[in-house]
Amino acid sequence: MTNMYHETVLEIHLPHLTHNFKYLKSKISAETKFMAVVKAAGYGSEAAPVAKHLQSLGVDYFAVAYTSEGVELVQKGITTPILVLHPQPTHFKELVTHRLIPSLYNLYVLKEFIQFCTSEGITQYPVHLKFNTGLNRIGFSMDDIDACYGLIRNTKAVIVEGILSHLAASEDLKEKEFTLGQIKSFQTIVSKAPSLFGTIPLVHQSNTSGILNYPEAHFTMVRSGIGLYGFGNDVKFDKNLKPVTSLKSVITQINTIKKGESVGYNRAFVANKKTISATIALGHADGIGRIFGNQKGFVWIHGKKAPILGNVCMDMLMVDVTAILCSVGDEVIIFNAHHTAASVAEISGTISYELLTAISPRVKRKIINR
Ligand SMILES: *Cc1c(COP(=O)(O)O)cnc(C)c1O
Repeated sequence: MTNMYHETVLEIHLPHLTHNFKYLKSKISAETKFMAVVKAAGYGSEAAPVAKHLQSLGVDYFAVAYTSEGVELVQKGITTPILVLHPQPTHFKELVTHRLIPSLYNLYVLKEFIQFCTSEGITQYPVHLKFNTGLNRIGFSMDDIDACYGLIRNTKAVIVEGILSHLAASEDLKEKEFTLGQIKSFQTIVSKAPSLFGTIPLVHQSNTSGILNYPEAHFTMVRSGIGLYGFGNDVKFDKNLKPVTSLKSVITQINTIKKGESVGYNRAFVANKKTISATIALGHADGIGRIFGNQKGFVWIHGKKAPILGNVCMDMLMVDVTAILCSVGDEVIIFNAHHTAASVAEISGTISYELLTAISPRVKRKIINR
């Protein structure tokens, strides 16, 4: 089959996104709200069209990591509230200008935000408070509870719309005891919120694997990233989900390599017999790292595996097509819904999250609506 794009393309299959959203919704109660995590360009897809599609499906909230990611969504027409998980004080002005909701994660950031709002004459700005229950990344510690709640009690600048925490090992059932401990700590944190705050509307701790493995951690909202993009961190969940992105490329040249000749930089592959190689328009600058070189990784051509020969170049890689009848212009699959990004990631000792988010902006994105 020829590649209809004649270039490398990352397809974004919106119907798969719909399927995954519905599947994840079926795992939570009707009252539980759903926050879609669209940070890092929608896990390497394209944030705005993905967010627009989820908005049309009725998602309750979005999350991004940084203020700039939220600003982009607002500028592209997203009207659903957006939580910024890891804002820095230097971007508070932009954040409030775009009505983004900050997750405040330590006393320093909380004080800075209160001070910022006070100096701008802003009152009652909704915020979420992020607590550390064991991941030890960002978040108020358990010891900060009184100081944190005290600061908020004494200011009119902010109101607490949400309280959150993040699970460290929700996909790993060997860590069940640890996770249950995190859930318990979180319940304590929420229960200590002063009655002055009223009922906190949005209490959230679960990521995708929390949704799938810990119903007791759903609280009033859940946050899903990887599940929406089609991965459940476990084969038993993966089979119910549909990977959203397909990475396709194209054969740009076919070479016959004689016995003793080599392919690519540093002559890393030397043919011990006549070999047919195909050059593919994709390299480490596109997100397929050198780790996949030297037969570790492979691509699919006409449904057959073609191992990568020698070193992956910046813009190209060469594969062995000795056993595959193919031509220049033919389609090459790096990953899709059948040959999944999770299985490709595993070859290089990483996880779907990293491979997906590594696909560089140079690769053209193509939205598939059906
Ligand atoms: C990235 C992130 C998520 C999404 O996690 P998935 O495992 O992709 O569902 C949820 N919460 C926080 C705080 C995150 O940083």
